[in-house]
Amino acid sequence: MSTAEPWTIGRLLNWTTDYLTSKGSEEARLEAQLLLCHALKCQKIQLYTRFEETVDEDNRAKFRELVKQRAAGIPVAYLLGDSEFYSMAFEVTPDVLIPRPETEHLVIETLDRVKGRSGESLRLLELGTGSGIIAVSIAKHAPKVTCLATDISGKALEVAQRNASKHKVDDRIEFAEGDLFAAVPDGEKFDFIVSNPPYVAESERSMMDAQVIAHEPHLALFAPEEGTAVLRRILEEGADYLKSGGWMLLEFSPMIAQRVAKIAEETGNYDQISIGKDLARHDRYLV
Ligand code: GLN
Repeated sequence: MSTAEPWTIGRLLNWTTDYLTSKGSEEARLEAQLLLCHALKCQKIQLYTRFEETVDEDNRAKFRELVKQRAAGIPVAYLLGDSEFYSMAFEVTPDVLIPRPETEHLVIETLDRVKGRSGESLRLLELGTGSGIIAVSIAKHAPKVTCLATDISGKALEVAQRNASKHKVDDRIEFAEGDLFAAVPDGEKFDFIVSNPPYVAESERSMMDAQVIAHEPHLALFAPEEGTAVLRRILEEGADYLKSGGWMLLEFSPMIAQRVAKIAEETGNYDQISIGKDLARHDRYLV
């Protein structure tokens, strides 16, 4: 980036869009906008109201660093330190998965069932909360719900805790470190158990987005037994933690949907088992 022509916001945007496109980005314009807003600490609209404004060397250096990292494949969400889920802003770090839109179905389905029981104080357990998006967005939209959210990663829980505070639901979500139910007090039972656990099979690795594999935490992605091992544990152990009439909602990949439904049936602990689809019409979750 040189020559005598001044580096205005507009010129930086155009240059970066071309550069990121040449590096294989499919959303180069949007990414250039997001990174420049982050460097300049401004809103997207201001990029256009200030299009002709020259950017000083300090800010340019900050922006250059972000563009360099993006070109090297680091996901935009990690560079910005936040991501949107269920129309809410969440902090993300490389210790947690970047929120996926399909996970919103889990939240919507849970909230639908919570609404059918308005007036009741409900207890929800989330297993493998990661950045906390599921528990936080449910708590935010359902004021009578209190949650226990567990994760095996203490670093992820720190992010989740900050997200709960950011959305002012930290008084209704307790976080506990441990492997699935290990962090749940003995004898405690819940109205809802929800989880988006690791469910990607090792055999799917070669079909996955290279950027996901290179930068997102494998602990949150992969599970043995063709992706079903953690889901199986949740289904087998979960009944002991569910109140009668309670609901369990689990996300998985379309590839293992039928197998997970079969595992649920075989436990003999659940009735009304159904599979829900995501927006792409793929089997995505079990209720
Ligand atoms: N849906 C995620 C992906 O395909 C996986 C999330 C998970 O394993 N819980 O990358």
